[in-house]
Amino acid sequence: MQLIDQYNRRLNYLRISITDRCNLNCIYCTPRQGFTKLRHKDILTYEEILRLSRIAIKLGVNKIRLTGGEPLVRRGIYEFIPRLVSLPGLEDVSLTTNGIYLKDNLKKLRSSGIKRLNVSLDTLKRKKYQYITGHDGLRQVLDGLSLAKELAFEPIKINVVVMKGINDDEVTDLARLSLVEPYHIRFIEYMPLGASNTVHFSYHVPSSRIKVEVSRPGNLIPVQKSMYDGPAERFRFKGAPGEIGFISPITHKFCHQCNRLRLTASGCLRPCLLSNQEVDIKGPMRAGASEEELSRIFLKTALNKPYAHHVSSLNPIPVTAQMSSIGG
Ligand code: SAM
Repeated sequence: MQLIDQYNRRLNYLRISITDRCNLNCIYCTPRQGFTKLRHKDILTYEEILRLSRIAIKLGVNKIRLTGGEPLVRRGIYEFIPRLVSLPGLEDVSLTTNGIYLKDNLKKLRSSGIKRLNVSLDTLKRKKYQYITGHDGLRQVLDGLSLAKELAFEPIKINVVVMKGINDDEVTDLARLSLVEPYHIRFIEYMPLGASNTVHFSYHVPSSRIKVEVSRPGNLIPVQKSMYDGPAERFRFKGAPGEIGFISPITHKFCHQCNRLRLTASGCLRPCLLSNQEVDIKGPMRAGASEEELSRIFLKTALNKPYAHHVSSLNPIPVTAQMSSIGG
């Protein structure tokens, strides 16, 4: 049995939010006034995540991304990752982090089996970084990125959420980084997530506009997609060591090729990031469900994956869960 939905999409990619806790408070991700955090006992334990991962792998998942909240704030993460990485049948484990704790932990991450990193960095200006994230941490992130390069993490992707009036004036400078560093700079369209974020749809900048700004330093040459590629359209400036990517979940929906399933920190399966549909799997698991019963929950969730989301600038339906619990 494989995770295949009713539109014949094979879901081989599981994104796991291992905690809803984060050391930053980014304006696009968590409400400034705060939000109710999960109780510790409501967050999946590592043993539970491993059990569900084993089941998912038997059902065809071969790629897992760890995200959050901030995965590197969870105690025990460096002991957990090698256990996950060594699960038979899993081909790729990657991590999305805000990079604050990277520098001091990169060697541990490397030896735990992580090679592919996504680091969120929305600005190169110290004050603006502090405004966006609520923390004066730009230096820490830049130092972490430099060390990641020295330790030959490959690829090192930098996720930039582009927001009108906040950091859209910097996209050319961020793109230029790819001319001197081997980083893949990925410009992501802002998505309205979390009930309180709907008012911010005015942040949204379509990728078509971002692309015009990004093209200023030179022609963007398309790059061939590779095996573990996500939905980014990939480009490179001539001779550049790095790359540019555009991820356009709102204006160029890639739903038709979506191969993702999400496991939230609270133990729910989510077949679509931008839909409120989620299925509790922690409850049945804690109530003693067998592997077969848990497999059935996975299969049914996959089958019911919506064909597409319906969020657009004209239709900003609020997605009520917080990104930190879902994991982005
Ligand atoms: N703490 C980690 C980090 O900062 O990368 C992982 C969690 S974060 C929720 C995962 C990704 O979601 C980040 O790359 C972030 O930029 C993206 N993200 C969060 N809120 C978003 C939004 N409203 N629109 C687009 N991307 C968003």
